[in-house]
Amino acid sequence: MSETACPMCELTDVLKFPKKWECVACGHEWEPVAEPDAPAEPRVVKDAHGNVLANGDCVVLIKDLKLGGGSQVLKGGTKSKPIRLGDGDHEISCKLDGIAVALKACFVKKA
Ligand SMILES: [Zn+2]
Repeated sequence: MSETACPMCELTDVLKFPKKWECVACGHEWEPVAEPDAPAEPRVVKDAHGNVLANGDCVVLIKDLKLGGGSQVLKGGTKSKPIRLGDGDHEISCKLDGIAVALKACFVKKA
């Protein structure tokens, strides 16, 4: 348990109400500081069918994808290892057939 100290007298005899906290020692009332939020506007990545993808999901390719110069092709229907979402236009990092790849979410569906 973390102790809350009164901002006025810095004692920790604090009564916690849903909307306010009250210091028993000096009677000061204040609004609790909101819990730090998760980063505002978490990025929502959707697959080809509009399903929201999350870290740890597995996805399946819906079409063949050429890698790099086209020397390797990942076949449609290949299932990935659990994915990691990132920034950029290739939102999904994962392994397919043991190859680390970055994929566009529009080329996969949630497994
Ligand atoms: Zn106080």
